[in-house]
Amino acid sequence: MRETRESEARVALVPELVAKLTALGHEVLVETGAGLGALADDAAYAEAGASVVDDPLPDAGLVLSVQPLTREAARRLPSGAVTVSFLPTALEPDLVRDLRDLSVTSLAMELVPRISRAQSMDALSSQSLVAGYRCAIVCAGLLRRFFPLNMTAAGTVPPAEVVVLGAGVAGLQAIATAKRLGAVVKAYDVRAAAAEEIRSMGAQAIELDLPTLEGAGGYAREMSEERSRLQRELLAPYVANADGLITTAAVPGRTAPVLVTRAMVEQMRAGSVVVDLAADSGGNVEGVVAGDVVRIGHAQVWGGRNVPSQMPGPASRLYAQNVVNLVTLLAPEGELVLDLDDEILAGACVTHAGVIRHEPTRVLVEGPAEGEVQ
Ligand code: NAD
Repeated sequence: MRETRESEARVALVPELVAKLTALGHEVLVETGAGLGALADDAAYAEAGASVVDDPLPDAGLVLSVQPLTREAARRLPSGAVTVSFLPTALEPDLVRDLRDLSVTSLAMELVPRISRAQSMDALSSQSLVAGYRCAIVCAGLLRRFFPLNMTAAGTVPPAEVVVLGAGVAGLQAIATAKRLGAVVKAYDVRAAAAEEIRSMGAQAIELDLPTLEGAGGYAREMSEERSRLQRELLAPYVANADGLITTAAVPGRTAPVLVTRAMVEQMRAGSVVVDLAADSGGNVEGVVAGDVVRIGHAQVWGGRNVPSQMPGPASRLYAQNVVNLVTLLAPEGELVLDLDDEILAGACVTHAGVIRHEPTRVLVEGPAEGEVQ
């Protein structure tokens, strides 16, 4: 599908991967202009064996997109069709209701379980990799000074100091990229395992005298207000000393935690730069604006907006590989065999055969079942 949502330049299938689907026995239809944002033109898809058509929906058995379909597009799907896309169900309750009522099977890429068998389908990780890299590059670009140490006949230029808060997939990639560019990097994450990962990237792990917050599935848990206040207080000197601050902290299903207040940014030196990857989900930095650069104190504060889409070529290539791997599981020989006993498909499935199967989404859309305590 051609993406229609604002600021989305990615595409769910790139020409290089069309042959993987045709080899499985699928016929591949690509909507006219689908790949243009990611620099893949219609001719490249046609050469790869796809048919480029203006309206692929009425014949579609399996629909691949990055963003969820619009409600209008969903209503035009044949009953029993399967959609594969990101599907943030908490933001799209009406669409989920439509998909249920239309008996469409919808699979959400962000719900693919993070088990080792599903690593090759983990689009959260592949897109975080792109976003983390991009954050470090944006930080280096906005900072009007060198990242690396330079020892020259005209004197020594000290390296920039970059602080990264949140060291999941995106944060670790930001650390690795800033290190490669020569910055001195310090990083912090609430999860216990993160300190070792930070050090393995050659950065200094910031150790705060606070309990760690490990939740289920290797994710962070939400902090209490008191812990969050203490964390901000202990992080303040590190923020004040940073030339570049990159924040990537997230808690699944929640708005982003505020790690840095306006007052903390106001302590930063003239010329310093803040890059907030979490701006789309509320922001780790108070006052950030998604899709804009604002000035707070002496610092320029950049708010990320659909950051993976800012490198649409590589982001699409990685996403498309994740999707193709999922389709290979879903329809191994050209025929859909939706095995809902498979942990990966069961985990990713939001709606199927007129039922919302993802329990948190079902409760959100339909309310708790009778007799269930809310
Ligand atoms: P995420 O995008 O949900 O969050 C980013 C980071 O923010 C996390 O590291 C989290 O601990 C951190 N964070 C949350 N609140 C914070 C706070 N108040 N202060 C500082 N940091 C805070 O996470 P993610 O990048 O998707 O990955 C989270 C974990 O899952 C990592 O341990 C990662 O290695 C693991 N993971 C496992 C697999 C797999 O097994 N297949 C795949 C990907 C990621």
